[in-house]
Amino acid sequence: MTTKSMDKIMALAKRRGFIYQASEIYGGINGFWDYGPLGTELKRHLREAWWQDMVLLPCRGALGPNGEPVRIVALDSCIIQHPKVWEASGHVGGFNDPMIDCRETKARYRYDHLMVFVPANDDPQGKPFFCYLPDSPSEAKQKKKAEKAFGAIKSVALRDIPKDLWPRVIGPDAEKPGSLTEPRAFNLMFKTYVGATATDDDVAYLRPETAQGIFVQFKNVLDTTRVKVPFGIAQTGKAFRNEVNPRNFTFRSREFELMEVEFFCHESEAHDWYRFWRDQRLAWWSSLGLAGHNLQLRPHERDELAHYARDGAGTSDIEYRFPFTAPGFGELEGVAHRSSFDLAQHQKFAKTNLEYFDSERGELLPNGSRRGEKYLPHVVEPAAGLDRGVLAVLCEAYTEDASRPSPELLRIHPRLAPVKAAVFPLVNKDGMPEKSEKLHRELVQRFWRYGLIEHDPKQSIGKRYARMDEAGCPYCFTIDGETASTDTVTVRDRDTGEQQRIAIASAGDWLAERLGQV
Ligand code: ATP
Repeated sequence: MTTKSMDKIMALAKRRGFIYQASEIYGGINGFWDYGPLGTELKRHLREAWWQDMVLLPCRGALGPNGEPVRIVALDSCIIQHPKVWEASGHVGGFNDPMIDCRETKARYRYDHLMVFVPANDDPQGKPFFCYLPDSPSEAKQKKKAEKAFGAIKSVALRDIPKDLWPRVIGPDAEKPGSLTEPRAFNLMFKTYVGATATDDDVAYLRPETAQGIFVQFKNVLDTTRVKVPFGIAQTGKAFRNEVNPRNFTFRSREFELMEVEFFCHESEAHDWYRFWRDQRLAWWSSLGLAGHNLQLRPHERDELAHYARDGAGTSDIEYRFPFTAPGFGELEGVAHRSSFDLAQHQKFAKTNLEYFDSERGELLPNGSRRGEKYLPHVVEPAAGLDRGVLAVLCEAYTEDASRPSPELLRIHPRLAPVKAAVFPLVNKDGMPEKSEKLHRELVQRFWRYGLIEHDPKQSIGKRYARMDEAGCPYCFTIDGETASTDTVTVRDRDTGEQQRIAIASAGDWLAERLGQV
C-alpha cells in the first residue's frame, strides 16, 4: 500500500477551495484553519449526516441493547459557561498536559508525545540519546543519528527514561544534549474575561469540549421533555484548546468542531451501551466511505484512561490511518464510559441534586407497580471530531490516476460530496446552453436541499470533467449533439469515468436514485 502525499492533498484542498489557512494574508495564525466554498459544504454534509444518524433517526433505526429504539434529543449550549463548570469537570485543575521546553530551540512539546531512540543492546556510556516527536521531520533525522551512534536501536517513551539520564538526551530539533526542561503543567484552556473590567474575578474560559454544557443542562432536559433513561443528549459545536504544538494540517488545531452524544443509562447497563456505541460508531464512519483497512478500534490501556473513565467499561478510540500517521493510526473519535463522574461533580459543585428517579426500577410492589430507584446515571460518550472527520474523508477520497484527464480526483461518498451533480453543454452554441441551463434549473429546484448542483458552459469538456473530479462531484450530465433529436443526455460517473445515455426527462429520477434521496 502506498502512502498518499499530504502535501498534494493540502495543495488540492487549497486550490479547489476546501481549506485555507486562517488569516493567510497576514501570514496565517498557527493552529487555525478556514473552510472555503467547497470545504464548508463538505463539512456541513458530514455534520448533517451525523445529526441525521444520531438525532433524527439514531443509528438508522437499529435497536439498542435494551431491545428498544435509541432515544436522543438535541442541545445547543454556550461556548462560555460559568467558570465553576470547568473546576467541577476537572479541566481547571487537570486539563494540564505536562509540557517540556527545549532551552536550545525554544520549542515546546507535550511530555507524553516525546519518544527517544536508545541503543537496543548494550549502552555505550557517554553517547547521547536522540529524542523525537513521532510523525514530525525530527523522527527520521534522529533515527539516522541514533543508528550511526549505536547500530541497533529501539524506541522508548521519554517518560520511561530515568531522570538521571536526561542530561544525555538531545531534544527533537536541538544539537546539544541536556536542553530539555523538567515537565511542567500548562493549561490548554483559552482564557477570556466576561464584562469590561477584566479583573481576576471576571475570568472565563472558551469550552475545550461540548460535553460539560450537556451535563449542566441534564436536569432541565429531563424536567422539560418526556425523555426517560436510557437516552442521549447530542450537540455539535466549536471547542477550543490551546494546543502546544498544532500540526498535521487540521488534525491538531486550536479551534475545532466536535460532535458529541452523552448517553445516560443505569450503571448495570453501561457495559452493554458502551459496546453498542463503540461498534455503531465504527460502522458509521465506514458507511461514509472510510475503507476498512484504514479504520481501527483501539481500546485504551488502563494507564491511558482519563480520570473519569478509570472505573468504567473503558474507552476505545476509533482511529484512521492518515497519511501522516501511516503505517500507524490517529484518533478520529473517542467512545468513553465516563461513569457518573461528571454528574456527581456538578451535583457537588453546584449543590444541586442531579439524581434521576426511575419509576421502572426497584422492588415490585403488591399492586404490580415498582417502588422506583433514585440514581445518578452513568454516561457513555461517543465524541467525534468534525474537522478530523473532514480530513479523513479528504485523505481517503484523494486519488491519483495519470490515465485520466484529471490526474487527481476526490472519490468523496455521494452523501458527503459538496457538489452532487453538474450539468454541461458539450459546446457553448447550437442551442445546447439553453437546454443545459433548463436541466440545471430543474435539478437545482429538486435537489437544493441536498447540496450544490453546478452549471459550467466554459472550456473543453475534458477540462470541465477534470474540475468536477477534483471537486469530488459524483455525476456530470452533458447536453450534446444528440440531445435535440433524441431528448437524451449523457451522464458520467466520476469513479469509473464511464458514460451512459439516458432520457433527459428521467435525469432527476436517475439522480434521486443514486443519491438515495427523495
Ligand atoms: P488527542 O489525544 O488527539 O489530543 P483527545 O483524546 O484529547 O485527542 P477528545 O478529548 O477525546 O480528544 O476529543 C474528541 C475528539 O475531538 C477527538 O477524537 C478528535 O477527533 C477531536 N479533537 C481533539 N483535539 C483536537 C484538535 N486539537 N484538533 C482537532 N480535533 C481535535
